[in-house]
Amino acid sequence: MVFENAMQFRKAVQSYAIEYKVQLKLNPNEKHKIRIKCKSKGLCTWELYASTDRDSGDFIVKKYQPIHKCTTKNKNKLCTSKYITHKYKDRIISPPNIKLWEIREWVRDQEDLYVGRTICYRAKCMVIKQFMGDWKLEFSRLCDYVDIIKSTNPGIVCWIRIDKDTKPGKKLFVYFYVCFDALKRGWLEGCRKIIGFDGCFLKELCKGELLVAVGKNGNNQMFPIAWAVVDQETKHSWTWFIENLISDLNLGDGVGLTVMSDMQKATYRTVGTDSSLLCAKEFLQKVLSNQYLTQELLSIFLGYRVI
Ligand SMILES: [Zn+2]
Repeated sequence: MVFENAMQFRKAVQSYAIEYKVQLKLNPNEKHKIRIKCKSKGLCTWELYASTDRDSGDFIVKKYQPIHKCTTKNKNKLCTSKYITHKYKDRIISPPNIKLWEIREWVRDQEDLYVGRTICYRAKCMVIKQFMGDWKLEFSRLCDYVDIIKSTNPGIVCWIRIDKDTKPGKKLFVYFYVCFDALKRGWLEGCRKIIGFDGCFLKELCKGELLVAVGKNGNNQMFPIAWAVVDQETKHSWTWFIENLISDLNLGDGVGLTVMSDMQKATYRTVGTDSSLLCAKEFLQKVLSNQYLTQELLSIFLGYRVI
């Protein structure tokens, strides 16, 4: 048997060990000659030796004792995360939220082998890294992304906030806000004066939370206005998001603006700057402040029944 190099030979041995469920001792750092023996010492005489041929440069098997006398096992150290990544990458990447137990079941069904959660987790991370890129590296390029997005989308409002104090010498991501010019003009010129606010968790590796502001277009359908990615959904992050939005959309006092939100499990309506009513701007700024959220106050001021 002839192989191109030691790496190809190792892969072939790994596939053989997994297929026949035998425990082989494969030292990792031999480049020019590899001797492999079965791990069950004394019992089994299986042996394989291959080395680089001086004339051709190929990696050639020079000694092979093919008979195993050992018993097979359904666990194999050569079934590594790298092997799983290589063999199952298409299956791992196709469903958006693949679970680790699903990978374990595939390996058990296909190879008849049991693998640990950690191996499956590493394999999943490797596949995601291959297809999605290195997200840690991409976080460090966010400021460049802001510059590019601003230069290629005139009129866009895009902000990033970074914390330099918590860990000296490191820039920690805090907030990222974006409002495209076309969406801003679209809402101002063609939509009803309604804004809905909501937030949701971002899953997968990066985590964080997504805050969004959506309007309603002429067909009574959702119209995205602006969104932000924040580290946590807090009073401070919502205030930062809403203040940016007030400034971008020139909401001013918010006359005639209706705001919908599930914050505090209620829906509120702001009507205008009448002295007995909360104006939209004030409402938006204080929406997270408890003093404005008592049921009686809202019922009186807004004329709405608070759920
Ligand atoms: Zn053996």
